[in-house]
Amino acid sequence: MRVAIFGCGQLARMLALASWPLNVRFSFLVEPGENTDCVQGLGTIVERPAGADAQQLYAALGHPDVITVEKEAVDTTLLQALSAHCAVHPNATAVYESQNRRREKMRLDALGIPSTPHAFASDAASLKAAADKLGFPLVVKAAEHGYDGKNQWRIADSAALDAFLQQQPQGDWVVEAFIRFQCEVSLLAARSATGEIRLYPAVLNHHVHGILRSSIAPAQGVEPAWIERMQQHLIRLLEHWQYVGVIAMECFVIDGGLVVNELAPRVHNSGHWTQQAAVTCQFENHVRAILGLPLGNTDTAITSAMLNLIGVNATPQQALGAYTTLHWYNKTVRPGRKVGHINIRHPEREQVLAILQQLEQQFYPA
Ligand code: AMP
Repeated sequence: MRVAIFGCGQLARMLALASWPLNVRFSFLVEPGENTDCVQGLGTIVERPAGADAQQLYAALGHPDVITVEKEAVDTTLLQALSAHCAVHPNATAVYESQNRRREKMRLDALGIPSTPHAFASDAASLKAAADKLGFPLVVKAAEHGYDGKNQWRIADSAALDAFLQQQPQGDWVVEAFIRFQCEVSLLAARSATGEIRLYPAVLNHHVHGILRSSIAPAQGVEPAWIERMQQHLIRLLEHWQYVGVIAMECFVIDGGLVVNELAPRVHNSGHWTQQAAVTCQFENHVRAILGLPLGNTDTAITSAMLNLIGVNATPQQALGAYTTLHWYNKTVRPGRKVGHINIRHPEREQVLAILQQLEQQFYPA
């Protein structure tokens, strides 16, 4: 079986590494000049041929059984056109709606799924109206091309709003109330082409400067009924979209329940712990799902944690210990760049937390 992936970053790498043992082979669609270090040796790398139509691209990708994505910023018109030649999972509609924060919020609203209080704005008048509706402080997010805290601005008061508008008088923004959340959790699920759905345990996430630093799974201290309610919403969304593959729903825990911060229609950084601690990891389950194979069990019997290695210059093998596993992405280290992660698993939760703390001090001494 052959899977083609739009993209060639660490998620593509880990999808391929997890699924080679299933005898699945890969091709990767990359943009001209894009760095392909992460997927070297893992399949055929296809530079998007200029002017090629969907038929030619399908042939260049080696006539895959299914095409999938490892990122949201993809050409969904092309995805739609490719679906005439083979299965495309997740489908173009799900990717189209979730690649734009405005469309994503509209979908959540239409399905009655609670998300952060929000308004849409494009100029001074609509931004000020949004501020009147939501109150300060605010978070202004570009509708597209924002991830890991990029292209989003915290606005403390009306003076800061005026200063922001001086810099950017117009845009396509989703404006959110700044949420003083208790904690952040993400919910991951897999839905197979056969309709089978499996949910991973909720994950507790810790962000630094808008980028995920670490995750602990399963999340503790969050009312199970709140998690269950949001999982039911996630299932409804999957069924609405007829979604196939793994999806992540990032949520804030507030008084009385969970609200969605954002969706990721793909395998997700907050699911990396599953590589060592779930019966079936998110990468294998994504590939099983899109190929219509039976999903693997998503339970975990122990506590685990994941620490991202972001811009670290240390020798990564320093991370290895009796209870730690290293996943290095074969990237050149640059400040702010995710270059690997460490998974920690231990039968005792306290030990997992202690090792996480010790590694965090080692790799982020400041
Ligand atoms: P995002 O790119 O939307 O996932 O945001 C990155 C991180 O910024 C989140 O994980 C939160 O830690 C923080 N953040 C985003 N939106 C809000 C908000 N409305 N209120 C408070 N913090 C936020």
